[in-house]
Amino acid sequence: MNNIPKSLREKLRQVSYIGNLKKELVLESKIDKTKKYLFELNDKNIIETVMMEYEDRITVCISNQVGCRMGCNFCASTLEGLIRNLEPWEILDQIIKIQEDNNKRVSNLVLMGSGEPLDNFSNTKKFLELVNDKNGLNIGYRHITLSTCGIAPKMIELADLELPINLALSLHSPYDDKRQEIMPVAKAYKIEEIINACKYYIKKTNRRVTIEYSLIKGVNDSEKEAREIIRLLKGMLCHVNLIPVNNVEERNYERPDKAHIYKFKDILEKAHIPTTVRISMGSDIGGACGQLRKGYKK
Ligand code: SAH
Repeated sequence: MNNIPKSLREKLRQVSYIGNLKKELVLESKIDKTKKYLFELNDKNIIETVMMEYEDRITVCISNQVGCRMGCNFCASTLEGLIRNLEPWEILDQIIKIQEDNNKRVSNLVLMGSGEPLDNFSNTKKFLELVNDKNGLNIGYRHITLSTCGIAPKMIELADLELPINLALSLHSPYDDKRQEIMPVAKAYKIEEIINACKYYIKKTNRRVTIEYSLIKGVNDSEKEAREIIRLLKGMLCHVNLIPVNNVEERNYERPDKAHIYKFKDILEKAHIPTTVRISMGSDIGGACGQLRKGYKK
């Protein structure tokens, strides 16, 4: 910055630094317009970020941690546990680098990459401030979705911030015992507690909550489960997003066939629960839900 006095430059050097994610590799999907970016951090860890281009918008799925300690047993991000939290600027720079690389503005964000945002809450909070700031990236809170595996007390804290961001809850089973089998975090927070936290979030923000439900063949896809979801969500301002489980090579979960997925959707919709089936993008480049991992196979 030659346009500021040398003494000020020296002072800035002492009190601050400008971080920089290094673009390591970009993989482009052959089946849709998805790109997966691998960024190298200063400490050589690698994180993954996915850019999804639609006709009217660009959504970026950002990572929040290197790895994850939540242990959901259908997800690749957690296979090697948590390495470390990302700093606010490291979360932000994923978007900046993607905007620069494509010379396009990112309009929507989903905090659905590697990591659990509410397990890195203070950095996530700071990131949300920066990304929303007029002098930052100026991305509206309403265009941001934060997904959590259900850390109830942090959901309450988030609600108390009263930011109009979208909250998504990974439910994956309406039964505590089954949920505990596939998501260890469920041992700490019962379904009743996390649904109450969602209701509190709705009360505070007036926003409709998304309930994510990854459909796994023979595990959580029966009619009985659909009926229990209806009972659980009755009267709540929410919609359900069904995610046919994506393949992770270390796991052997399968997605139900298409007819079965749409039958499940139909049961929920008949009970007036708005339901969508997520179109996973970038599965050929390991960019779909649950496929992001720490490091990468060369
Ligand atoms: N830690 C956050 C963000 C995770 S990724 C959370 O747990 O919500 C976003 C969604 O993808 C979550 O609902 C997660 O459970 C789901 N997911 C993870 N692995 C998946 C897989 N292999 N197939 C389909 N969905 C998966």
